[in-house]
Amino acid sequence: PVRVRFAPSPTGYLHVGGARTALFNWLYARHQGGKFILRIEDTDKQRNTAEAVQVIYDGLRWLGLDWDEGPQAGGDHGPYFQSEREAIYEKYFQRLKEAGHLYEDGGAWRFRFRREVVEVDDLICGKVAVDFANTEITPDMTIRRPDGSWIFHFVNVVDDIEMQMTHVIRGEDHLSNTPKHIQLFQALGVEPPRYGHIPLILNHDGSKMSKRDQGASITSYIEGGYAPEAVRNYFCLLGWSPKDDREIMPTEEIISRFDLANVNRKGAHFDIAKCDWFNAQYIQQMPMDRYRELAQPWLAKAGIHAPAEQLDPVLALEKMKVVHFKEIPDRVSFFFNEDYEYDPAAVEKTLRKPGAPDRLAQIAEAYSALETFDAATLEAKLKELASSLGVKPAEFIHPTRIAVSGRSVGPSLYHMLEVLGKARVLARIQQTRE
Ligand code: GLU
Repeated sequence: PVRVRFAPSPTGYLHVGGARTALFNWLYARHQGGKFILRIEDTDKQRNTAEAVQVIYDGLRWLGLDWDEGPQAGGDHGPYFQSEREAIYEKYFQRLKEAGHLYEDGGAWRFRFRREVVEVDDLICGKVAVDFANTEITPDMTIRRPDGSWIFHFVNVVDDIEMQMTHVIRGEDHLSNTPKHIQLFQALGVEPPRYGHIPLILNHDGSKMSKRDQGASITSYIEGGYAPEAVRNYFCLLGWSPKDDREIMPTEEIISRFDLANVNRKGAHFDIAKCDWFNAQYIQQMPMDRYRELAQPWLAKAGIHAPAEQLDPVLALEKMKVVHFKEIPDRVSFFFNEDYEYDPAAVEKTLRKPGAPDRLAQIAEAYSALETFDAATLEAKLKELASSLGVKPAEFIHPTRIAVSGRSVGPSLYHMLEVLGKARVLARIQQTRE
């Protein structure tokens, strides 16, 4: 059975490249019916904090990438923190030492490379060969520092052996390490796993994505009001495509179609505008329950608490327009608060116009006579009133909108009035006139 892993170092931050590596491992495990393992490569003691690990859990959980083995999930191959695997590394170190693969060099321990060609048959990049003949180009590698701490290459290989990885799927930045890792596997008498190196994520202009670029940190999506399913879908396409131009796809379909053979060899171009487009598309197509579920934490943060039957009609008005959930409280706050603020510019431009108070009085009178208060009726009534007085409907539309919402932009006026309901509409117009 397939066993793959995501092996991040806790740096306090989960990069889009790391998240995409985790995602591809997860997709591959789910496609193959295998296991996805999380291993924390925390040998760097300074950077190793509980918060830094939490950022990784939060990011993976938010993206819906559940792990079968690892911290918090357990498993037969733990501990899953490198900082807790000292005894295992010591054992492997002794094995290499006794077999004559190591020598001491000024207090550090080096692994003696076999001076030959090592070929990697990469599942994505194809065959890559490295000739170890030149000791200056490929000097023997340090695996243990004089202070006794371990070098990444050694612990990474030991863990991949002990955790019985069948495939190592990681960023292309590790491709140059792989021949060295294969040498370690061989020295330990273990068949290396299959490798697949995923192309790097590049900015729109082809430069390498850095920490500061927009969308680089997974936290920015969590805090930016994205739907995890939209971001996950977009990330799937960073280096993978189903070859038929389909983009919006349910995760189940991606899992069934995902394979390392159709991961691109060229760098993937990251485009935050495209990610935003995915988010808006997902929101538009989302069932109401899910839409409300994702909107509620943002509403709550803004102090808006209301039952589903009150929220849903309001949220529905914005469904086709929202790009990020973060925007929702501002878009809808006036529905839930009779003390909404009036935009001074809109007041100046529209409500202070000489005819405005009369128009508000007229529309209030016309609407107060209505039995049915739905969008179609409200529209017909407003237009009928305008034409009977020989004025443009806009003379009613603008002041009414500002009177009931305090702003000059918002959802379709008649739908907004319908959702507010007759009593509130009349009260708000009255309050504005006073
Ligand atoms: N800790 C390494 C990294 O974060 C893991 C590399 C690997 O996946 O083998 O890059």
